[in-house]
Amino acid sequence: MAKYDKKSLCADEFINDEEIKATLQYAEENKHNVELIDRILDKARPVKKDNGYVCQGLDHREASVLLACDIPEKIEEMYKIAEEIKMAYYGNRIVIFAPLYLSNYCVNGCLYCPYHMKNKTIPRKKLTQEEVRAEVIALQDMGHKRLAIEAGEDPVNNPLEYILECIKTIYSVHHKNGDIRRVNVNIAATTVEAYRKLKEAGIGTYILFQETYHKESYLKLHPTGPKHDYNYHTEAHDRAMEAGIDDVGLGVLFGLELYKYEFAGLLMHAEHLEAVHGVGPHTISVPRVKKADDIDPSAFDNGIDDETFAKITALIRLAVPYTGMIISTRETQSVRQKLLRLGISQVSGGSRTSVGGYTEEERPHDTEQFDVSDQRTLDEVVNWLMENNHIPSFCTACYREGRTGDRFMALCKSGQILNCCHPNALMTLAEYLEDYASPETKKLGYEVIERELSRIPREIVREKAEENIKYIKNSDRRDFRF
Ligand code: SAM
Repeated sequence: MAKYDKKSLCADEFINDEEIKATLQYAEENKHNVELIDRILDKARPVKKDNGYVCQGLDHREASVLLACDIPEKIEEMYKIAEEIKMAYYGNRIVIFAPLYLSNYCVNGCLYCPYHMKNKTIPRKKLTQEEVRAEVIALQDMGHKRLAIEAGEDPVNNPLEYILECIKTIYSVHHKNGDIRRVNVNIAATTVEAYRKLKEAGIGTYILFQETYHKESYLKLHPTGPKHDYNYHTEAHDRAMEAGIDDVGLGVLFGLELYKYEFAGLLMHAEHLEAVHGVGPHTISVPRVKKADDIDPSAFDNGIDDETFAKITALIRLAVPYTGMIISTRETQSVRQKLLRLGISQVSGGSRTSVGGYTEEERPHDTEQFDVSDQRTLDEVVNWLMENNHIPSFCTACYREGRTGDRFMALCKSGQILNCCHPNALMTLAEYLEDYASPETKKLGYEVIERELSRIPREIVREKAEENIKYIKNSDRRDFRF
């Protein structure tokens, strides 16, 4: 039987089934142990130190006790701490991005995904470079600066060379004042060599969802194709990091397996990356299974209600305080609104999940990967964020300034973030307001900028940001950033 060893490079050891089961039992036994729960909550609370905050995070056992706890006042406290941590490390900024689907050709047999190989009714489509360019122009015209590219796994139709060519095309398009400054990549697990090439192509985060940490279920849910190999898939982030990609993203597809199991597995994965590479996950995504072409989410027994989903989100924030947390348009506006208070730091907006969807007038469904619940335009999302006291940020500076991996984490954990990310967010928001916003959003946006500039602690930074925003208003589009 595999032993539990978070530093091991073998998936069966760092995501150890025995340890997860023991964790769930420990959590169940202690779910009303108020003394222990209070100690864990105290540990999770941000503590002010020098100019910044220290958040210790929680290990998978501690966080699982909180997840099992059903005492309403304690749950309220968890939510409050999640909000405090988000504000301490990320302030009220919310980073905006959009997915870009390149190809839905796929040789895998994933039971929850309409791109599975046996689906003979879904039209198969792969963008040509001309089409990639047209999609990118449409995305730039909305105001996007950051993309997550998505593709099925198909070594013949979408080989790595195709993905690399698309990345090159995306970075090469500069339409009007637009450009894509960060391309995150969500493609199937691959080799160290391939990850090296992605790194050389200048990608941001490499994102790969685990789907489920439960090995037995994983094997059943991925009956055929290369993705069937649980260990190869689970060890992918290690290979990416070995290749020099130091921002990697994790995620579970909630609904496939028991959420308490997934939650413990996800945190063990984060602990493993931190123990081995000295850097935990740059982002954690929390997707839920959605209706899609030939997929009915009710066919999976483990769907979670909105309240449980909120609790999971808040507790990921408590356990992994430094990570970026992503919520996509799989969720409705009201669910997103609730989760934004509980630790989310990135949202997608104006998304289309079909191949070639951005160049169509109406949102097409033919090649869609899943149903989009939040169907608002990017302008509506930006406006809504500001109405709710968040700052929509189109910033991509950290990655371009080499502040990735442990350097990003150090910045996040120190007080410097208000002197760096905050002005960057405001300057990129000003660019958006000038170039793409509706008159109402523009008006509200400048009120927000005015208010938020005064929160920048260092006078010299504040003055520089004000000056740069004046340039932006005067159509100067130099790449201003701290
Ligand atoms: N082919 C790559 C892979 O296997 O990881 C890229 C993944 S796919 C384009 C992006 C993600 O969409 C998947 O990892 C999965 O979690 C999610 N997904 C697939 N089907 C879904 C569905 N019906 N509802 C919600 N999310 C889904």
